[in-house]
Amino acid sequence: MEYLLACPDKIKELLAAKFILFLFDYDGTLAPIAPTPQEVVLPEETKIILRKLSAMPDCKIGIVSGRSLKDLKKAIGIQGIIYAGNHGFEIEGPKLKFESQVSPQFKAGLRKIARDLSSKLKGVEGVLIEDKGVTLSIHYRLVRGKDMPLFEKIISEATAFCVKNGKIKVERGKKVYEIKPPVQWDKGKAALWLLASQKFAIGEDKVISVYIGDDKTDEDAFRALKGKGITILVGGADRPVADYYLKDAEEVAKFLHLILEAKENKLCVN
Ligand SMILES: [Mg+2]
Repeated sequence: MEYLLACPDKIKELLAAKFILFLFDYDGTLAPIAPTPQEVVLPEETKIILRKLSAMPDCKIGIVSGRSLKDLKKAIGIQGIIYAGNHGFEIEGPKLKFESQVSPQFKAGLRKIARDLSSKLKGVEGVLIEDKGVTLSIHYRLVRGKDMPLFEKIISEATAFCVKNGKIKVERGKKVYEIKPPVQWDKGKAALWLLASQKFAIGEDKVISVYIGDDKTDEDAFRALKGKGITILVGGADRPVADYYLKDAEEVAKFLHLILEAKENKLCVN
């Protein structure tokens, strides 16, 4: 896994591609991590670059996040781009709409687990339960180390039966547990679906994807998109799961700025 900012040639090669579908995770990728999801803010400079890139004729921007679609749209606040919320279970964008069909029984079951967890986790300080409709997030960034064994035990006991019966899936992200429908749909499948939609509109061999993410759930997208463009892990080189890495959200902005500058120059030359 190479450090992307040390590979200017790779960046130039990217620009030669006719059309780039950029797919970004949000928390920890475009915006720095904060103690709670509500405190995460998209830096103004990044927002400006994203707006400019999305106005380019040969770029498309998509945000693929574990946040609910509604929350994600509010947090980013840019019109005319693709939003894939709830790990791709809800997608909305120009001429695009996808909503995964989950059964009312699943939703009722999820509400029950949410109620159960919120009562059992009352004694564990720092837990934040977020009900996102199709999925449930249990954030534990603020839970103290000494409370972690109890926290883990409660999560495991509250979900074990449903996991065993194939009624839910439990996955671990960065300082968060995600409870999801038991189907084969994740950020990787959603990213492939988005890439296919762009290829259908633009042309099969004219589109490449650039996927940037920092989370465990982004690894599904890194695997799915292998060979279809480039994949970039944010956070350093410790897990060799993508083609390249960047250190933090600030470096993501730097990389996007380089692309934008080069694309603007290209437009001037043409
Ligand atoms: Mg993230």
